Amino acid sequence: MTHTLRHLALGLIGCLFLPAAALAAPCMVITLTGTQGGPSAFQGLAGSGTLVRYGDEANDCRGVLLQFDAGRGTSMRLSQVGVTPGQLDAVFITHVHSDHVDGLADLLQLRWMQEFKRPRVDVVCAADSPATAGFVMSCAKLVAHTADAYIQSGEIAQRRAEDMARPAGGPADLVNVSTFAAIDEPRLVWSRGDVRVSAVRSAHVAGHASYRVDTPAGSVVIGGDAGNDTPAPPRASSTSAQVETLARGAQVIVHSVIHPVMGPDGGTGFPAPIFHRQSTAGDLGAMAQRSGAQHLMLTHLIPPLGADRQGPYRLPKGPISAADYEAAVRASGFAGGLTVGGDLSSVRLPARK
Ligand SMILES: [Zn+2]
Repeated sequence: MTHTLRHLALGLIGCLFLPAAALAAPCMVITLTGTQGGPSAFQGLAGSGTLVRYGDEANDCRGVLLQFDAGRGTSMRLSQVGVTPGQLDAVFITHVHSDHVDGLADLLQLRWMQEFKRPRVDVVCAADSPATAGFVMSCAKLVAHTADAYIQSGEIAQRRAEDMARPAGGPADLVNVSTFAAIDEPRLVWSRGDVRVSAVRSAHVAGHASYRVDTPAGSVVIGGDAGNDTPAPPRASSTSAQVETLARGAQVIVHSVIHPVMGPDGGTGFPAPIFHRQSTAGDLGAMAQRSGAQHLMLTHLIPPLGADRQGPYRLPKGPISAADYEAAVRASGFAGGLTVGGDLSSVRLPARK
């Protein structure tokens, strides 16, 4: 019997002994699809992303599938948990930095090639956001042009010639772009059935947003790369006050993290403004404690576990371990569950007894 068949058989046997109420019990699974911090590549880590699955025991918590950010290699990680690009109900983008969207073209191209008969996928993100330096960060343009290289190369025309049912405009034809004006108070930006997704504006770069998913199984906040509105010390915290408001009462917080070793005193030469626009491990622990979260999932680790450098910046005292991140979080007093994220780290709500 293949692994899949055995899994199916065990699942069916399990179902036979579960009462109907248990089968209908709502559940949510939060999976980190990529934990690389920033644009560098290190030991095969995928780029930033989080999959949120919601459903019930009968459908293995797979009634609604939401992807938050789609960094490099997202489709590969999704394949490891049995999710195809076409199965995603919506993709939410925190901001248009390449380390958060490198995998979007891949997801949409695969959908266009192989799953074009499915309904359009919603891509949800902040409306065009002007930066003070005079440029505009535009998620809508990113999506509209995401497969332009494949159009220009002739691939889209060539593959359409093989199957004219594929939409003529290429992958962007299969997307509903849904933009919202990101504001400081949480606002509903997407819903389906029991699932409601809210967003707030948060600081990092223009157009950065953080999200919260509310379901009958629980709530999770996806902070993205959020930092404090005050771009450098002195300030009370490196974390975002808006994200803290968003996280109040949520069970799980997923958040990008930077270790203090990358700070101006660490001797790495890492640019201070880039350090200060991320949230530190200790400040995230303190925020999780204040907001009452049961579990903090650290992702987008700067530096990655075991790396002796962050991109071009060498760590003079050597690599950072998971224990180092944990020590920094625990020093804040946060006593809840903690995941120092690796690719495919998962948390389930409610937790299995
Ligand atoms: Zn990032």
